[in-house]
Amino acid sequence: MPTEYSNYVGGEWTDARSGETFETRDPANPDEVVATYPQSDAADTETAIEAAVAASAEWGSTPGPERGRILSRTSALLAERKDELTDLLVREEGKTRSEAGGEVQRAIDIFDYYGAKASDLGGTVKSSSARNTNLYTENEPLGVAGLITPWNYPIAIPAWKIAPALAAGNAAVIKPASLAPGVVHEMATALEEAGLPDGVLNVVTGPGSEVGDTIASHPEVDAVSFTGSTAVGNTVYDTATDDGKRVQLEMGGKNPTVVSDSADVEEAADIVASGAFGVTGQACTACSRAIVYEDVYDEFVDAVVERAEAIEPGPGLDDPDMGPHVSESELESTVDYVGIGEDEGATLETGGAALDREGYFVEPAVFSDVEPDYRIAQEEIFGPVLSVIPVGGYEEALDVANGVEYGLSASIVTDDHTEANRFVDEAEAGVVKINEKTTGLELHVPFGGVKASSSETYREQGDAGLDFYTISKTVYDS
Ligand code: NAD
Repeated sequence: MPTEYSNYVGGEWTDARSGETFETRDPANPDEVVATYPQSDAADTETAIEAAVAASAEWGSTPGPERGRILSRTSALLAERKDELTDLLVREEGKTRSEAGGEVQRAIDIFDYYGAKASDLGGTVKSSSARNTNLYTENEPLGVAGLITPWNYPIAIPAWKIAPALAAGNAAVIKPASLAPGVVHEMATALEEAGLPDGVLNVVTGPGSEVGDTIASHPEVDAVSFTGSTAVGNTVYDTATDDGKRVQLEMGGKNPTVVSDSADVEEAADIVASGAFGVTGQACTACSRAIVYEDVYDEFVDAVVERAEAIEPGPGLDDPDMGPHVSESELESTVDYVGIGEDEGATLETGGAALDREGYFVEPAVFSDVEPDYRIAQEEIFGPVLSVIPVGGYEEALDVANGVEYGLSASIVTDDHTEANRFVDEAEAGVVKINEKTTGLELHVPFGGVKASSSETYREQGDAGLDFYTISKTVYDS
């Protein structure tokens, strides 16, 4: 039987006032309905925002260590339910069990991390030029944070917004993506059990154009943190900045890995394949372009094709090499891009077809002979499709790497230290990695991009994640 989830508003589990619901299905077995959720509208969302407003002052004045204890308890409760959460995540989003387990663990670690940070939110003490005067800064919460999240990391991304927002003393309203909201409801349940006061976190499901837009436009929401596509992010930005809200945007990517002629080609193929095909290519930091020096190009193409062909897709619960796409439309989009690449004149070395079986499965695809201006080398595909682009050397590789609208993550595989250092300085990306895949980042370092990948002003994760949810006040005490 599908689980029937409700909204979580003001500490109550409630339905949409229309009584309407929508359902989620298992992408490996679309006949199976996993859960149902309220199809909320603008009025439901306004009620949730009002609940957050009502709770924000008391929560903001609750001592940081007390807030932190609730987040730490939440981490422990999530850890107790790790297997259950992992299964739910797999059944709604399609990741392999290993990938989903890693993601749930990340959420557990995030609550643990910000639980500790909540005791350490102080500002700074400064020397005053006046005698007998204490001069210091303190960090205050903003009030109500509106959080809008995508389906591709359905627990980690909500966790890295909810935990710092609450640690810093804000109340929050979250609208999870409609394809995989279950784990956010389970996170709210854990927070409730851990003792979170009513109204401090509110969860509302429904269409982005209703629920998300109301969060972005509501005058009593003080800050909006959005992760999702660049097109929607830009709309959210325009709406939210209209009345001066603080806005954080994390959006799309077209991430390159440069493979130098000094690289170990087998190691480079491992790095690129794991960045390109992990989580079915459905990561904002997925490697979708390998930019390879001509001297090692043919050898690299053979090595990466070998890795793509060794991947066996299957249902995530069986923990295969690669799970399905999250939905039929994402599968169709990937297959369409494969057709576009062939029409543009690239050589399809392997893969790219939907599997002839139930579920939204696709073979990982590798294109060679890709020109940097082809659409498959410019646009975010969000599927397991790799373009391998030949270049004459470092300068050309850098031009190609930077020659897209996005700038999220970039990596280089090289044995040449000077070349690696130049790339760190010259790559237009928020994250740069040497001899590493483009995906994955530890939770205590800042994460974000440049250009069309990010709003650039605020980073997520680590201390930077708290900065977004606080404002400093300077105090003179004479
Ligand atoms: P999406 O932009 O379609 O949706 C993101 C969220 O916005 C969803 O909750 C959606 O319901 C909501 N939304 C839709 N229309 C809205 C509107 N008009 N107003 C307010 N909210 C609205 O993205 P998606 O398909 O869920 O996720 C995939 C995208 O997310 C990819 O582009 C990927 O690169 C990006 N992403 C970025 C990062 C990052 O950190 N940079 C991380 C993960 C995913």
